[in-house]
Amino acid sequence: MDVDVVVGGGGLVGLPLAIALARGGLSVAIADPAPKTEVLAAAYDGRVSALAYASVRMARALGVWTHLEADAQPIDEILVTDAALDQAPSPFSLHFDHGEIGTVPLGVIAENRHIRQALYRVAEATAGLTIIAPAAVKALASDAQRIKAYLSDGQEISARLAVAADGRESPLRESMGISVVQWSYPQQGIVTTVHHEHPHRGVAYEHFLPSGPFAILPMTGNRSSLVWTERNEVARRMMALDHAGFDAEIARRFGAHLGSTRAEALRWSYPLRFHLARAYVRPRFALAGDAAHGIHPIAGQGLNLGLKDAAALADVILEAAALGLDIGALHVLARYERWRRFDSFTMAASTDALNRLFSNDIAPLRLARGLGLAIVDQIGPLRRFFMRQAGGDLGDLPTLMREDAAG
Ligand SMILES: Cc1cc2nc3c(=O)[nH]c(=O)nc-3n(C[C@H](O)[C@H](O)[C@H](O)COP(=O)(O)OP(=O)(O)OC[C@H]3O[C@@H](n4cnc5c(N)ncnc54)[C@H](O)[C@@H]3O)c2cc1C
Repeated sequence: MDVDVVVGGGGLVGLPLAIALARGGLSVAIADPAPKTEVLAAAYDGRVSALAYASVRMARALGVWTHLEADAQPIDEILVTDAALDQAPSPFSLHFDHGEIGTVPLGVIAENRHIRQALYRVAEATAGLTIIAPAAVKALASDAQRIKAYLSDGQEISARLAVAADGRESPLRESMGISVVQWSYPQQGIVTTVHHEHPHRGVAYEHFLPSGPFAILPMTGNRSSLVWTERNEVARRMMALDHAGFDAEIARRFGAHLGSTRAEALRWSYPLRFHLARAYVRPRFALAGDAAHGIHPIAGQGLNLGLKDAAALADVILEAAALGLDIGALHVLARYERWRRFDSFTMAASTDALNRLFSNDIAPLRLARGLGLAIVDQIGPLRRFFMRQAGGDLGDLPTLMREDAAG
C-alpha cells in the first residue's frame, strides 16, 4: 500500500491525528495490534479523561463531538483541598468556577471507551483513511524519498512520513533509536467508577492526601470517576481487597458530601511513570502522545498534551503539503518539535513538582501549601490564569484548538 502518512498506534492520539490528516486531503493508513472489539469493550480501559476545553474544540472541529457530547459531563467547578485521611479537609482550599472566565465549562469528563467509540465512528467514515487492525508495526525502514512500515500481518506500507502514536512503551520510538529521560513514581493510579447518593453538580474534587492526589471526577448521572494515587504497597493491598473492603476504603476517603457511595465491580490500577523523549523527530519520522511524553495524572493533562501534539503536527504537515514541500523532510518536522517539546517539558516538570510537593504529610510543607492554595484562591487574575492553563487555552494554539476551529 502506498500512502502519504502511516500512523503506528490507533489510540486516543493516533486516531484524531489520522482523521485530521485525511480530512486535510492526505492518504493515511493507521495500524494497531488491538482489534476494535477489544478496545471498545468496557474492561479494556476504565479511565475517564478530563478533556480541556481546547481539546473539546478539537473534537468539535473533527466531527467527533457529535458522537461524544451525550456521554460527556461538563466540569463547572473544581475544588482543590489539602486533606489528611480521616480528618476534615484543610480550611485553605482553592475554588475554580468556570463563570469567572466565560460561559463554557472548564472542560468535560468523558469515559475513554466513549472517546474511542466516537473516534472510531468518525475514522471509519473518513475518506482517505484506512484502519488496519489487528496489526502491529513491526519495523520501519527509510531511504531518501520514502519510509516503509512492515506490519505483523505481512503487509508493507510505503509512505512519505511515519508517525509513532504507539503509547508510552513505544516500540517504534525505540526502533528509531530515540531514548527517553524517565523515572517511575512509587505510586499507582487506582481507577474505578463510584455511584453516589447526591448529585455532584458538575464539581470535580482534588483532595491531596498524604499518599497522593485523590480525584473525584464528575460523570454523567450520579456517578464519579475516582483516580486515586496511592503508594505501591498500599495500592497492591487495596487492589487485592474483596468488593466490600474496597468499597469501605473508598467511602472513608470520599467524605460525606456526596452521600452514601458504591463502587462498581471493575477496578484498574496503572503504574505511574515520567518520561520525555530526547527527540520528537527524525527524517521521515515523528512521535506524538505518550510515545513522546508520559506525565503524572495529578492534573489530568496527559491526553490533552497528546491531542495538542496531534493538532500541531497536522498543522505542520498540511501546511507543508499545501506548499508542495516534502512532508517527511527533517526541516519541516523540526518546526513540530520546536512547537511541542518545550510545552510538554513544562507540563511534565510542573506536574512532577506538584506531585512531590503534595504527596507527603510533612507539617511545615502542609502549612505552606495550604497557604499557597489560599493565596491563589484570593487573587483573581492568578486563579483565572490557572483556569486558562487547565483549559489548554494558553500559548501558541494549533488551528484545530482555536476558538473559531469548528467554524
Ligand atoms: C490513571 C490515569 C489517569 C489519566 N487521566 C487523564 C485525564 O484525566 N486527562 C488526560 O488528558 N490524560 C489522562 N491520562 C493520560 C492519558 O490516558 C494518556 O496520555 C493517553 O491515553 C495517551 O494516548 P496515546 O494514544 O498516546 O497512547 P495509548 O492510549 O497508550 O495508545 C497507544 C496505541 O498504540 C498501539 N500500539 C502499541 N504498539 C504498537 C505497534 N508496534 N504498532 C502499532 N500500534 C501499536 C496500542 O495498541 C494502543 O492502541 C491519564 C493516565 C493515567 C495512567
